[in-house]
Amino acid sequence: MSTYLDHAATTPIRPVARDAVLAQMARVGNPSSLHSAGRAARRVLEESREAVADALGARPSEVVFTSGGTESDNIALLGSFLAARQADPARDRVVLSGMEHHAVLDAATHLADTSGARLTFVEPGECGTIEVDAVRAAVEEDPAAVAVVSVMWANNEVGTVQDVAAMARLCHEHAIPFHTDAVQVAGHLPVDFAAVEADTLAVSGHKFGGPTGVGVLLARRDARLVPTSHGGGQERSLRSGTVAVAGIAGLAAALTEAVGEIETEAARVAALRDRFLTRVREIDPSIRVSGCWELGDITRRLPGNAHITIPGCDGDSLLYLLDAAGVEVSTGSACQAGVPQPSHVLLAMGRSEEETRGSLRVSLGWTSTEADVDAALSALPDAVDRARRASGAA
Ligand code: PLP
Repeated sequence: MSTYLDHAATTPIRPVARDAVLAQMARVGNPSSLHSAGRAARRVLEESREAVADALGARPSEVVFTSGGTESDNIALLGSFLAARQADPARDRVVLSGMEHHAVLDAATHLADTSGARLTFVEPGECGTIEVDAVRAAVEEDPAAVAVVSVMWANNEVGTVQDVAAMARLCHEHAIPFHTDAVQVAGHLPVDFAAVEADTLAVSGHKFGGPTGVGVLLARRDARLVPTSHGGGQERSLRSGTVAVAGIAGLAAALTEAVGEIETEAARVAALRDRFLTRVREIDPSIRVSGCWELGDITRRLPGNAHITIPGCDGDSLLYLLDAAGVEVSTGSACQAGVPQPSHVLLAMGRSEEETRGSLRVSLGWTSTEADVDAALSALPDAVDRARRASGAA
């Protein structure tokens, strides 16, 4: 049995979610149909919507089911930009952090390429924090021209948690919509949509033990969004298409369970994170922890994120060597066409390309145990040694 430590990429499905998916898959019924089977499917859909709203501090009417985090981010960013510009053609700026996930970054680039959007990036500091004052400065350069602001609640590579409530408030001082990508947060730290005051918020089912291919966009009732796909008008016309009831039932079951145990789990998982980061630096003091990290702290770093850089070796070599030893982790950033790219997140945090090379992300979640952490710690020294030799550094 291998040791799975890549929860930020996807989590093992929770049994309650698998049962909910299987139960719905055994039934027929399109929630848009008017007969009994359709009405039964509609009931499951609406009960799931209520459960999700309850778990995220939203109203059921604010829950839009999508195919995942990527689609939620796209609907929010493109839809908000197009609506703002339609209302006022002078609004052509998008303000976003330089450490957004590609679901936001590439959607914004698409707006720049196809709709003349002007992008303003707010870069993080050394530990990955986006300062609220830096967002304010970017917005206040020309607030009347800003169509939408987007800052992720927590980063998927280095785990830094941002003060998105303060950012939402400052946007509202200028009547600018604020979007936040909460894909790494939902189910791991409390999300209260009403309190955070974001206009839109993205969630993905498979990051907290739900199935893949299903997500949520929370959109305030008064959020102005132009639909970016067209069809049957389901989900407030923001996500047309036959609704995926089985996946949605699974997402709702997983989220309800995750949120029900969120405080104890966040503390338990953060202790595992701290065990890994403390011991890894005892093994090799040259290893650097990326992002903000204090023992026990979950206000500035996600409980389940342990990202490190190891000098003198290549992250991909390490990943394969650890995999061969039965430990599954990630480098944190994506390959393009099989070629490893330096992480745009670490570069935005001021690291050099050379420093980004030896990146390794260990991410923990609901199935993780001390034995998993210890398996990674015991496999690491040999993998580092070999990876360094392969890169000629040892
Ligand atoms: N946003 C963040 C921060 C993510 O970590 C991910 C997935 O890795 C996504 C968006 C995309 O979510 P999905 O895989 O559901 O499309």
